[in-house]
Amino acid sequence: DNIVLDVRNLSVYYYTIAGTVRAVENVSFKIERGDWVTFVGESGSGKSTVAHALVNLVPNPGKIVKGEIIFNGKNLITMDIEELRKIRGKDISMIFQDPMTSLDPLRKIGDQIMEVMIEHGVDEEEAKKRAKELLRSVNIPEDRLDYYPHQLSGGQRQRIIISMAMAFHSKLIIADEPTTALDVIVQDSIMDLLEDLRKSGTSVFFITHDISLASERSSKIGIMYAGKLVEFGLVDQIIENPKHPYTAALFQSTPDLWVDKTITSIPGYPPDLRDPPKGCRFYPRCQVFKENSNLKGVCNGKEPVMKEVEPGHFVACHLYGD
Ligand code: ATP
Ligand code: MG
Repeated sequence: DNIVLDVRNLSVYYYTIAGTVRAVENVSFKIERGDWVTFVGESGSGKSTVAHALVNLVPNPGKIVKGEIIFNGKNLITMDIEELRKIRGKDISMIFQDPMTSLDPLRKIGDQIMEVMIEHGVDEEEAKKRAKELLRSVNIPEDRLDYYPHQLSGGQRQRIIISMAMAFHSKLIIADEPTTALDVIVQDSIMDLLEDLRKSGTSVFFITHDISLASERSSKIGIMYAGKLVEFGLVDQIIENPKHPYTAALFQSTPDLWVDKTITSIPGYPPDLRDPPKGCRFYPRCQVFKENSNLKGVCNGKEPVMKEVEPGHFVACHLYGD
Protein backbone atom coordinates (compact mmCIF):
# COMPACT_ATOMS: atom_id res chain seq x y z
CA ASP A 1 0.00 0.00 0.00
CA ASN A 2 0.88 3.65 0.08
CA ILE A 3 1.98 3.97 3.72
CA VAL A 4 5.76 4.12 4.10
CA LEU A 5 5.84 4.67 7.84
CA ASP A 6 3.00 4.34 10.32
CA VAL A 7 3.76 5.84 13.72
CA ARG A 8 1.27 4.83 16.41
CA ASN A 9 1.09 6.27 19.92
CA LEU A 10 4.80 6.88 20.21
CA SER A 11 6.04 7.96 23.65
CA VAL A 12 9.69 8.60 24.48
CA TYR A 13 11.01 9.52 27.93
CA TYR A 14 14.49 10.54 29.11
CA TYR A 15 15.35 9.08 32.50
CA THR A 16 17.60 11.73 34.05
CA ILE A 17 18.87 12.14 37.61
CA ALA A 18 16.69 15.21 37.87
CA GLY A 19 13.56 13.31 36.85
CA THR A 20 11.74 11.70 33.95
CA VAL A 21 11.45 13.99 30.93
CA ARG A 22 8.30 13.12 28.98
CA ALA A 23 9.83 14.33 25.72
CA VAL A 24 7.38 12.71 23.29
CA GLU A 25 3.88 11.58 24.26
CA ASN A 26 1.34 9.64 22.20
CA VAL A 27 2.48 10.87 18.81
CA SER A 28 0.73 9.28 15.81
CA PHE A 29 1.05 10.07 12.12
CA LYS A 30 1.62 8.43 8.77
CA ILE A 31 4.14 9.10 6.03
CA GLU A 32 2.91 8.11 2.59
CA ARG A 33 4.83 7.41 -0.58
CA GLY A 34 5.95 10.67 -2.19
CA ASP A 35 5.25 12.69 0.96
CA TRP A 36 7.53 15.40 2.27
CA VAL A 37 6.45 15.64 5.89
CA THR A 38 7.90 18.53 7.90
CA PHE A 39 7.72 18.85 11.68
CA VAL A 40 7.99 22.33 13.14
CA GLY A 41 7.93 23.48 16.73
CA GLU A 42 9.91 25.43 19.29
CA SER A 43 13.25 24.28 20.62
CA GLY A 44 12.72 21.41 23.06
CA SER A 45 9.32 20.40 21.67
CA GLY A 46 10.55 16.88 20.85
CA LYS A 47 11.24 17.02 17.12
CA SER A 48 14.70 15.41 17.23
CA THR A 49 13.47 12.83 19.70
CA VAL A 50 10.78 11.77 17.22
CA ALA A 51 13.35 11.68 14.39
CA HIS A 52 15.66 9.40 16.36
CA ALA A 53 12.80 7.21 17.53
CA LEU A 54 11.73 6.58 13.93
CA VAL A 55 14.87 4.46 13.47
CA ASN A 56 14.98 3.26 17.09
CA LEU A 57 18.09 5.36 17.84
CA VAL A 58 16.96 7.41 20.81
CA PRO A 59 20.14 8.41 22.66
CA ASN A 60 20.66 7.56 26.33
CA PRO A 61 19.09 8.14 28.79
CA GLY A 62 16.11 8.08 26.45
CA LYS A 63 13.76 5.14 26.02
CA ILE A 64 10.83 4.45 23.73
CA VAL A 65 8.25 3.59 26.38
CA LYS A 66 5.25 3.04 24.16
CA GLY A 67 4.10 2.81 20.59
CA GLU A 68 4.73 1.16 17.27
CA ILE A 69 6.63 2.27 14.18
CA ILE A 70 5.50 0.15 11.28
CA PHE A 71 7.78 0.00 8.24
CA ASN A 72 7.08 -2.56 5.51
CA GLY A 73 4.59 -4.27 7.80
CA LYS A 74 7.14 -4.68 10.60
CA ASN A 75 7.50 -2.86 13.90
CA LEU A 76 10.94 -1.21 14.05
CA ILE A 77 10.73 -0.96 17.83
CA THR A 78 10.62 -4.69 18.44
CA MET A 79 12.72 -5.72 15.44
CA ASP A 80 16.04 -7.44 16.15
CA ILE A 81 19.13 -5.28 15.90
CA GLU A 82 20.66 -6.99 12.86
CA GLU A 83 17.52 -6.59 10.80
CA LEU A 84 17.26 -2.97 11.88
CA ARG A 85 20.90 -2.27 10.91
CA LYS A 86 20.16 -3.49 7.40
CA ILE A 87 17.31 -1.01 7.12
CA ARG A 88 19.17 1.99 8.53
CA GLY A 89 21.25 3.90 6.02
CA LYS A 90 19.71 1.95 3.15
CA ASP A 91 15.91 1.64 3.19
CA ILE A 92 15.82 4.54 5.63
CA SER A 93 18.54 7.21 5.40
CA MET A 94 19.21 9.66 8.16
CA ILE A 95 20.77 13.11 8.41
CA PHE A 96 20.77 14.12 12.04
CA GLN A 97 21.56 17.46 13.67
CA ASP A 98 24.26 15.87 15.80
CA PRO A 99 27.33 14.05 14.45
CA MET A 100 25.63 10.65 14.73
CA THR A 101 24.62 10.10 11.11
CA SER A 102 24.22 7.03 9.00
CA LEU A 103 27.86 7.34 7.92
CA ASP A 104 30.27 5.11 9.82
CA PRO A 105 33.03 7.38 11.21
CA LEU A 106 35.64 4.60 11.02
CA ARG A 107 35.32 3.72 7.36
CA LYS A 108 36.16 5.56 4.16
CA ILE A 109 33.27 7.14 2.29
CA GLY A 110 33.98 5.09 -0.86
CA ASP A 111 33.95 1.77 0.99
CA GLN A 112 30.62 2.62 2.57
CA ILE A 113 29.00 3.55 -0.71
CA MET A 114 30.43 0.56 -2.55
CA GLU A 115 29.52 -1.94 0.15
CA VAL A 116 25.81 -1.53 -0.44
CA MET A 117 26.22 -1.82 -4.21
CA ILE A 118 28.35 -4.96 -3.86
CA GLU A 119 25.76 -6.45 -1.50
CA HIS A 120 23.29 -5.92 -4.30
CA GLY A 121 25.37 -7.91 -6.77
CA VAL A 122 27.35 -5.13 -8.48
CA ASP A 123 30.99 -6.11 -9.09
CA GLU A 124 33.75 -4.09 -7.45
CA GLU A 125 34.98 -2.22 -10.50
CA GLU A 126 31.49 -1.19 -11.51
CA ALA A 127 30.73 -0.17 -7.90
CA LYS A 128 33.76 2.11 -7.85
CA LYS A 129 32.70 3.70 -11.13
CA ARG A 130 29.20 4.28 -9.81
CA ALA A 131 30.49 5.66 -6.50
CA LYS A 132 32.53 8.24 -8.41
CA GLU A 133 29.51 9.22 -10.47
CA LEU A 134 27.51 9.54 -7.29
CA LEU A 135 29.95 12.04 -5.78
CA ARG A 136 30.11 13.99 -9.02
CA SER A 137 26.32 14.17 -9.11
CA VAL A 138 26.41 16.14 -5.84
CA ASN A 139 29.43 18.23 -6.84
CA ILE A 140 32.02 16.55 -4.68
CA PRO A 141 35.45 15.72 -6.19
CA GLU A 142 35.77 11.96 -6.72
CA ASP A 143 39.06 11.67 -4.81
CA ARG A 144 36.98 12.19 -1.66
CA LEU A 145 36.05 8.51 -1.88
CA ASP A 146 39.27 7.89 0.07
CA TYR A 147 38.29 10.30 2.83
CA TYR A 148 36.81 9.47 6.21
CA PRO A 149 33.53 11.22 7.12
CA HIS A 150 35.23 13.64 9.55
CA GLN A 151 37.48 14.89 6.73
CA LEU A 152 34.47 16.28 4.87
CA SER A 153 32.47 19.41 5.62
CA GLY A 154 28.99 19.13 7.13
CA GLY A 155 27.42 20.10 3.82
CA GLN A 156 29.47 17.52 1.92
CA ARG A 157 28.51 14.77 4.36
CA GLN A 158 24.85 15.65 3.97
CA ARG A 159 25.06 15.71 0.21
CA ILE A 160 26.73 12.30 0.22
CA ILE A 161 23.99 10.82 2.39
CA ILE A 162 21.34 12.23 0.08
CA SER A 163 23.15 10.87 -2.99
CA MET A 164 23.39 7.45 -1.31
CA ALA A 165 19.68 7.51 -0.56
CA MET A 166 19.15 8.20 -4.24
CA ALA A 167 21.43 5.36 -5.37
CA PHE A 168 19.91 2.87 -2.94
CA HIS A 169 16.33 3.95 -3.71
CA SER A 170 15.66 4.54 -0.02
CA LYS A 171 12.02 4.49 0.96
CA LEU A 172 12.49 7.30 3.46
CA ILE A 173 15.03 9.93 4.38
CA ILE A 174 14.96 11.54 7.81
CA ALA A 175 16.55 15.00 7.82
CA ASP A 176 16.76 16.81 11.16
CA GLU A 177 17.55 20.48 10.45
CA PRO A 178 20.05 19.46 7.78
CA THR A 179 20.65 23.02 6.64
CA THR A 180 20.78 24.97 9.89
CA ALA A 181 24.57 25.12 10.14
CA LEU A 182 25.13 25.85 6.46
CA ASP A 183 25.28 29.02 4.39
CA VAL A 184 22.30 29.94 2.25
CA ILE A 185 23.69 28.72 -1.08
CA VAL A 186 24.57 25.29 0.30
CA GLN A 187 21.21 25.24 2.11
CA ASP A 188 19.37 25.72 -1.16
CA SER A 189 21.41 23.05 -2.92
CA ILE A 190 20.58 20.56 -0.16
CA MET A 191 16.90 21.42 -0.36
CA ASP A 192 17.03 20.96 -4.15
CA LEU A 193 18.71 17.58 -3.74
CA LEU A 194 16.06 16.50 -1.24
CA GLU A 195 13.40 17.61 -3.71
CA ASP A 196 15.03 15.52 -6.48
CA LEU A 197 15.17 12.59 -4.08
CA ARG A 198 11.49 12.97 -3.28
CA LYS A 199 10.64 13.09 -6.98
CA SER A 200 12.56 9.86 -7.47
CA GLY A 201 10.20 8.17 -5.00
CA THR A 202 11.80 8.61 -1.57
CA SER A 203 9.57 10.07 1.12
CA VAL A 204 11.07 12.85 3.21
CA PHE A 205 10.70 13.45 6.95
CA PHE A 206 12.11 16.90 7.59
CA ILE A 207 12.57 19.02 10.68
CA THR A 208 12.96 22.78 10.82
CA HIS A 209 12.34 25.85 12.98
CA ASP A 210 11.62 27.80 9.84
CA ILE A 211 7.93 27.79 8.98
CA SER A 212 8.37 29.47 5.61
CA LEU A 213 10.94 26.82 4.68
CA ALA A 214 8.45 24.17 5.81
CA SER A 215 5.66 25.58 3.70
CA GLU A 216 7.77 25.82 0.54
CA ARG A 217 8.64 22.19 -0.13
CA SER A 218 6.44 20.04 2.09
CA SER A 219 3.32 18.13 1.25
CA LYS A 220 2.34 17.82 4.92
CA ILE A 221 3.21 19.64 8.12
CA GLY A 222 3.15 18.50 11.73
CA ILE A 223 3.21 20.98 14.60
CA MET A 224 4.84 19.90 17.85
CA TYR A 225 4.33 21.53 21.21
CA ALA A 226 5.90 20.31 24.46
CA GLY A 227 6.25 16.69 23.32
CA LYS A 228 2.85 16.47 21.66
CA LEU A 229 1.94 16.49 17.99
CA VAL A 230 -0.88 19.03 18.21
CA GLU A 231 -1.76 19.33 14.53
CA PHE A 232 -0.97 17.44 11.33
CA GLY A 233 -2.22 17.91 7.80
CA LEU A 234 -1.66 19.00 4.22
CA VAL A 235 0.41 22.17 3.89
CA ASP A 236 -2.54 24.27 2.70
CA GLN A 237 -4.77 23.03 5.50
CA ILE A 238 -2.17 23.93 8.10
CA ILE A 239 -1.00 27.24 6.66
CA GLU A 240 -4.35 28.60 5.51
CA ASN A 241 -6.58 27.08 8.13
CA PRO A 242 -4.70 26.33 11.34
CA LYS A 243 -7.10 24.80 13.85
CA HIS A 244 -5.08 24.42 17.03
CA PRO A 245 -4.73 27.63 19.06
CA TYR A 246 -1.00 26.89 19.37
CA THR A 247 -0.55 26.61 15.59
CA ALA A 248 -2.40 29.87 15.08
CA ALA A 249 -0.36 31.58 17.81
CA LEU A 250 2.87 30.19 16.39
CA PHE A 251 2.09 31.59 12.94
CA GLN A 252 1.04 34.90 14.49
CA SER A 253 4.41 35.07 16.26
CA THR A 254 6.38 34.31 13.10
CA PRO A 255 7.55 37.18 10.92
CA ASP A 256 7.67 36.92 7.10
CA LEU A 257 4.94 34.36 6.65
CA TRP A 258 2.51 37.07 5.68
CA VAL A 259 3.72 40.51 4.81
CA ASP A 260 1.27 42.82 6.57
CA LYS A 261 0.58 41.51 10.01
CA THR A 262 1.24 42.41 13.56
CA ILE A 263 3.59 40.00 15.24
CA THR A 264 2.28 38.75 18.54
CA SER A 265 4.48 36.59 20.69
CA ILE A 266 2.95 33.78 22.72
CA PRO A 267 2.82 34.75 26.41
CA GLY A 268 4.58 32.49 28.92
CA TYR A 269 6.96 29.61 28.37
CA PRO A 270 6.74 25.96 27.33
CA PRO A 271 6.28 23.68 30.35
CA ASP A 272 8.85 21.61 32.20
CA LEU A 273 8.48 18.19 30.57
CA ARG A 274 9.26 16.44 33.87
CA ASP A 275 5.93 17.72 35.11
CA PRO A 276 3.80 18.82 32.14
CA PRO A 277 0.35 20.34 32.69
CA LYS A 278 -2.48 17.90 33.18
CA GLY A 279 -4.85 17.80 30.20
CA CYS A 280 -3.70 19.81 27.20
CA ARG A 281 -0.06 20.81 27.57
CA PHE A 282 -0.79 24.17 25.95
CA TYR A 283 -3.73 25.28 28.12
CA PRO A 284 -1.69 27.53 30.49
CA ARG A 285 -0.73 29.70 27.49
CA CYS A 286 -3.90 29.27 25.45
CA GLN A 287 -5.87 32.45 24.73
CA VAL A 288 -9.01 30.50 23.82
CA PHE A 289 -8.94 28.67 27.16
CA LYS A 290 -8.45 31.97 29.00
CA GLU A 291 -11.42 33.59 27.28
CA ASN A 292 -13.92 30.73 27.60
CA SER A 293 -14.99 29.80 31.10
CA ASN A 294 -16.86 26.76 29.75
CA LEU A 295 -13.51 25.17 28.93
CA LYS A 296 -12.52 25.11 32.61
CA GLY A 297 -12.05 21.55 33.76
CA VAL A 298 -11.97 20.35 30.14
CA CYS A 299 -8.65 21.58 28.72
CA ASN A 300 -6.96 21.37 32.10
CA GLY A 301 -8.60 18.08 32.96
CA LYS A 302 -8.40 15.71 30.03
CA GLU A 303 -5.68 14.99 27.50
CA PRO A 304 -7.01 15.86 24.02
CA VAL A 305 -6.71 13.10 21.42
CA MET A 306 -6.05 13.56 17.69
CA LYS A 307 -9.22 13.98 15.67
CA GLU A 308 -9.63 14.20 11.92
CA VAL A 309 -11.43 17.52 11.38
CA GLU A 310 -11.42 17.32 7.58
CA PRO A 311 -9.91 14.60 5.36
CA GLY A 312 -6.21 14.38 6.18
CA HIS A 313 -6.28 17.21 8.75
CA PHE A 314 -5.77 16.12 12.37
CA VAL A 315 -5.98 18.26 15.50
CA ALA A 316 -5.54 17.43 19.18
CA CYS A 317 -7.66 20.11 20.84
CA HIS A 318 -10.88 20.01 22.89
CA LEU A 319 -12.39 22.69 20.66
CA TYR A 320 -12.89 20.04 17.98
CA GLY A 321 -14.93 16.89 18.14
CA ASP A 322 -16.51 15.24 21.20
P1 ATP B 1 15.55 21.77 19.04
O1 ATP B 1 14.65 22.55 18.14
O2 ATP B 1 16.26 22.64 20.02
O3 ATP B 1 16.47 20.84 18.31
P2 ATP B 1 13.77 19.55 19.62
O4 ATP B 1 12.37 19.90 19.27
O5 ATP B 1 14.55 18.75 18.66
O6 ATP B 1 14.56 20.90 19.97
P3 ATP B 1 14.42 17.45 21.52
O7 ATP B 1 15.88 17.53 21.34
O8 ATP B 1 13.70 16.29 20.93
O9 ATP B 1 13.71 18.81 21.04
O10 ATP B 1 14.12 17.49 23.09
C1 ATP B 1 12.83 17.25 23.63
C2 ATP B 1 12.91 17.28 25.13
O11 ATP B 1 13.71 16.20 25.60
C3 ATP B 1 13.53 18.55 25.72
O12 ATP B 1 12.81 18.90 26.87
C4 ATP B 1 14.93 18.14 26.05
O13 ATP B 1 15.39 18.87 27.16
C5 ATP B 1 14.77 16.68 26.40
N1 ATP B 1 16.00 15.92 26.06
C6 ATP B 1 16.53 15.76 24.83
N2 ATP B 1 17.65 15.01 24.87
C7 ATP B 1 17.83 14.69 26.17
C8 ATP B 1 18.81 13.93 26.89
N3 ATP B 1 19.82 13.33 26.25
N4 ATP B 1 18.66 13.83 28.22
C9 ATP B 1 17.63 14.43 28.85
N5 ATP B 1 16.69 15.14 28.26
C10 ATP B 1 16.77 15.28 26.93
MG1 MG C 1 16.30 19.07 17.58
